[in-house]
Amino acid sequence: MPLPIVAIIGRPNVGKSTFVNRLAGMQDAIVHDEPGVTRDRTYRQAYWRDREFIVVDTGGLVFDDDTEFLPLIREQVMAALSEATAAIFVVDGQSGPTAGDEEIAEWLRTQTVPLLLAVNKCESPEQGLTQAAQFWELALGEPYPISAIHGSGTGDILDELIKYLPAVGEEAEIPEIKVAIVGRPNVGKSSLLNAFVGENRAIVSPISGTTRDAIDTLVERDGKTYRLIDTAGIRKKKNVEYGPEFFGINRAFKAIRRADVVLLVIDALDGVTEQDQKLAGRIAEEGRACVIVVNKWDAVEKDSYTIYDYQKELQDRLHFTEWAESIFVSAKSGQRVEKILELVDSASESHKRRVSTSVINEVIEEAVRWHSPPVTRQGRQGKLYYGTQVSTQPPSIALFVNDPDRFNDNYRRYIESQFRKQLGFKGTPLRLFWRGKK
Ligand code: GDP
Ligand code: GDP
Repeated sequence: MPLPIVAIIGRPNVGKSTFVNRLAGMQDAIVHDEPGVTRDRTYRQAYWRDREFIVVDTGGLVFDDDTEFLPLIREQVMAALSEATAAIFVVDGQSGPTAGDEEIAEWLRTQTVPLLLAVNKCESPEQGLTQAAQFWELALGEPYPISAIHGSGTGDILDELIKYLPAVGEEAEIPEIKVAIVGRPNVGKSSLLNAFVGENRAIVSPISGTTRDAIDTLVERDGKTYRLIDTAGIRKKKNVEYGPEFFGINRAFKAIRRADVVLLVIDALDGVTEQDQKLAGRIAEEGRACVIVVNKWDAVEKDSYTIYDYQKELQDRLHFTEWAESIFVSAKSGQRVEKILELVDSASESHKRRVSTSVINEVIEEAVRWHSPPVTRQGRQGKLYYGTQVSTQPPSIALFVNDPDRFNDNYRRYIESQFRKQLGFKGTPLRLFWRGKK
């Protein structure tokens, strides 16, 4: 079994390489044999207690800079993150949070890999705590004060880190699929939850490092585990008077952020509302896979056209998640509830899917042959050289072109639709990055 990889991320000069040297001790850099995109990252072997892992220094990440290497660096970090089991974001405790940290944090919050925050250069124990505390504002969880030079504090963060790494010789755990059930009040979320687990069979597990009342429920089916996120938030609500505006949107947003796949529950009797659209927008923005669950289907008066009319309404009104599959269920009778998990599986597979560079380029060649890139008013033709997938969850593809400005929205949509048509990706958003040559 290959060793788990821990990616070290941060701005230049925060002390990443000092930290990596400390973790890896005197062990030599190892060469990581990897096909595909060329990388110049260094992989070093490290261990803590009974765990062995590989640390990779991703190089200094900057966002607000226009050097020509910027896209490349970001891509490298994305690539490192996509293969990492966990990541450590290193910041400089002496300078405090900077705009660059903010930007990296904002981006990291959209990633699914477990992440720890190391506040480096905190040599003094008293000052260190205050220095570290400033970084709560990055909203990435607990900041750990460390000194990479002296080694203080590194034990605490490593103790936390190894919770995410498999013990030596231990089989990698069968990955669980994290599922968020979101929707307006009264659409039937808790009925759905009960239909999945049954009132008494629910196994609840508190999540470390989050508020105590966030509880997940684990459901097992066919040897697979589904972690239903923040089910306390779904159950806890009776006796609460909802104002017309309130529907626990922040809680829903948090659950979406933690999820692999989001079940967006719609009330069949109400149709798609503005709040449903808002949730769909957030799901797409966060890059999560999605299944649209139209509940209370038992209560709808139907004729043979109803389902098609309904599907059309979903298409028209939920365009942010137009790539999502929908299913019509009744939490009350249990009709088709089990089928939801099949759609969750396929959405999750699409979300994690990795497509080889050669296949991506076949699709591009074919697409360009049918429909050449546009020519600008100045008579300049767009050229699409090649593409490669840079990360998963959601699948993200970098497209290298002569000049991104020559590719209008129409053409960009066309290319995305070709990827979907040729490669599927049902149930997941797809991200395309258009990169210029200069
Ligand atoms: P990188 O660019 O993030 O890899 O940063 P380096 O590891 O090259 O460190 C940048 C600078 O910060 C160097 O001058 C280091 O000596 C200094 N540095 C690194 N770790 C610490 C630390 O724990 N405390 C202090 N005071 N300085 C540090
Ligand atoms: P939540 O607020 O989204 O968790 O919604 P609940 O699960 O509490 O359900 C709200 C109301 O809708 C309750 O009165 C449920 O009995 C009812 N309900 C839930 N699912 C269904 C369904 O599939 N069919 C019908 N007819 N009613 C349902």
